Amino acid sequence: KWAKFPYHKTLTEFDLSDQTSLSKRQLTQLQELTWLEQQYNLIFLGPSGVGKTHLSIALGMEAIQKGFQVTFVTMGELLSLLKTEEFTRKSQVQLNRIRASDLVIIDDLMYMAMEQREATLFFHLINHLYERSSIILTSNKSPDQWGELLGDEGVAMAILDRILHRAEVVHMNEASYRMKHRQSMFVSE
Ligand code: ADP
Ligand code: MG
Repeated sequence: KWAKFPYHKTLTEFDLSDQTSLSKRQLTQLQELTWLEQQYNLIFLGPSGVGKTHLSIALGMEAIQKGFQVTFVTMGELLSLLKTEEFTRKSQVQLNRIRASDLVIIDDLMYMAMEQREATLFFHLINHLYERSSIILTSNKSPDQWGELLGDEGVAMAILDRILHRAEVVHMNEASYRMKHRQSMFVSE
């Protein structure tokens, strides 16, 4: 419950044939959810269209089936929730769900640079979730670029520290699946 996935995709629908970065065995290991039981974080990195969101949703659905509390938000949504929490009941409710989740999926982290205040609010949330829940983060930027996007160096380091302390990083750098399996409107000759 609670998840709010943008679309539904499963692990069986996840094609590993083009993935040099993720083996069948590793995928099975992720499916077993030991990382979730042990409050490990997962970080999926790579350019657009490589399957970061798909894999996050699929693991989230797996977790729900096993009885875990899961929420899905994009980084943009999360920041607007945090900024409106003080005066918006809806934001409060949703943030309380996020804080109570076993797994929080934050999609498209650091898509854009954050303001100082946003970084601080984000830090407080990460601090709350730290060692209590698992987080799946997806990003098109590598962690060494997160610092500059988070504005404040001190806050950035503190956030990185907590997220990366117990985390598995998967680089999904293969060519865009979307591009490769693009549907053309032209009739082939
Ligand atoms: P992003 O890395 O940008 O989050 P998505 O996960 O949204 O990419 O993937 C884009 C589209 O391509 C989705 O429809 C997704 O289901 C599909 N896709 C990407 N990678 C795979 C894959 N390895 N197997 C099956 N479908 C994939
Ligand atoms: Mg995505």
